[in-house]
Amino acid sequence: MGHSVPPLSDKSLLKSQAYVNGKWVDAKSGKTFEVTDPSTQKTIGTMPEMDASDTQAAIDAASAALPSFRKTTGRERARMLRKWYQLMVDNADDLAKLITWENGKPMADAKGEVAYAAGFFEWFSEEAPRAYGDTIAATIPGNRIFTIKQPVGVCGLITPWNFPAAMITRKIGPALAAGCTVVAKSPGETPFTAAALAELAHRAGIPAGVVNIVTAMKNTAEVGETLTSSPIIKKVSFTGSTGVGKLLMKQSSGTLKKLSFELGGNAPFIVFDDADLDIAVAGAIASKFRSSGQTCVCANRLYIQSGIYDKFCDAFAEKVKGFKVGGGYDEGVTHGPLIHDRAVSKVAAHVKDAVEQGGKVLVGGQKMPDLGSNFFQPTVIRDMTSQMSLAHEETFGPVAGLFKFDTEAEVVKQANDTEVGLAGYFFSKDIQRCYRIAEALEVGMVGINTGLVSDAAAPFGGVKESGFGREGSKYGIDEYLTIKMVTMGGM
Ligand code: NAD
Repeated sequence: MGHSVPPLSDKSLLKSQAYVNGKWVDAKSGKTFEVTDPSTQKTIGTMPEMDASDTQAAIDAASAALPSFRKTTGRERARMLRKWYQLMVDNADDLAKLITWENGKPMADAKGEVAYAAGFFEWFSEEAPRAYGDTIAATIPGNRIFTIKQPVGVCGLITPWNFPAAMITRKIGPALAAGCTVVAKSPGETPFTAAALAELAHRAGIPAGVVNIVTAMKNTAEVGETLTSSPIIKKVSFTGSTGVGKLLMKQSSGTLKKLSFELGGNAPFIVFDDADLDIAVAGAIASKFRSSGQTCVCANRLYIQSGIYDKFCDAFAEKVKGFKVGGGYDEGVTHGPLIHDRAVSKVAAHVKDAVEQGGKVLVGGQKMPDLGSNFFQPTVIRDMTSQMSLAHEETFGPVAGLFKFDTEAEVVKQANDTEVGLAGYFFSKDIQRCYRIAEALEVGMVGINTGLVSDAAAPFGGVKESGFGREGSKYGIDEYLTIKMVTMGGM
């Protein structure tokens, strides 16, 4: 298996096959692709390179499993999800090791992700028995109206590598709670965590065909097209970039699928003069540098009011100097590698562009070839301006650009000057301002005096070109249900 990794206590969680119709399978073509550890670039293992025909087999399995699964009671599905949740908790260390191996994030972060990911199964096990309709007073005499909620059917799920467990459970949890069956394409970069989750689904007694995991790297677009054009698939839920989201939406139009898309962000992070400096710095560290800046809700543009700007720059840079970058398993490491060298190139280009236009690097700014080709120094740049690439594009890496602003009106305008709107953050002690800014930001999620907003209990999602639909919370299950209205006459 390539190189040393802390051994899994349960080796049977490490798979090299896809999971279809309750069985571990290879691609029909026999082809495989290699997966590498982003820290060392060594091969972790291989997974089947599946194509349209393999995907179709998974769709057929999910379709065959649907009639009996949709008839199970919410309480029965709750029990299955609860078992799956408990198995994730019981195997949390092994799951975290797999996440660190294939994604690179430090073990502490990986353990946090497992708890967050399992939380969606726990949450939706509680929602499953409560998906019921209404009785409605009719306006037509003699009529009676009621509604029932029914599963949309077979769902196609596509998720990215940055949260190898949580992005998948955030979709499968509500889908199963609603009574849907699923075909999930695991991320090419991080398929092993998804496969381990499938193994736990098997042990939890989820019936064959209800959860199917297909794997692909080179054939990703082909798998995506099969899922989005299939008349059997009634819903597609995608988390990833805005560009791929637009493509999948086009592909889904032929069969008019129900869609939910969690796409790219470009989060503003605003610190007003009246904020508590320590809390704002801690919030910025958590929001900007978690997973080395590779989260969709990461602060991308940090706007600091002029009265506190210099103090904030210095305190923030000081904290970043204390980071330890390295392999995710290494003792004391706070920040890991980026996922691949393309990500490093994008980060380097954003830094170069900022420096050429007058940005001043306070910390970092360089690649880290001594550690490996996927490492980039955590970087802080001050004196940013709105012309720089970092102001317009999602960096998705460990670079914090600090912009100075004077007035509330000016910063709201700048914060909203982007096509996307996922998360936004601000720090202030003024209660009226807190309401004003929370209402003014064009985003789906706001953090006030905190840099972390993710919680299974809270609705997660964006506005504008960050997509639509909500995951988690009481709303998450609605994405997988249709409302059927029944009118009974002649009463
Ligand atoms: P990406 O869009 O390139 O890939 C995401 C997933 O889609 C991967 O599994 C990939 O294999 C698959 N994919 C790519 N092309 C496809 C196609 N043609 N058909 C079907 N599937 C395809 O995104 P990425 O660069 O891997 O991930 C980072 C992006 O994801 C960022 O923009 C980030 O903001 C976004 N993201 C959003 C959220 C959210 O909840 N809004 C969460 C995490 C990441």
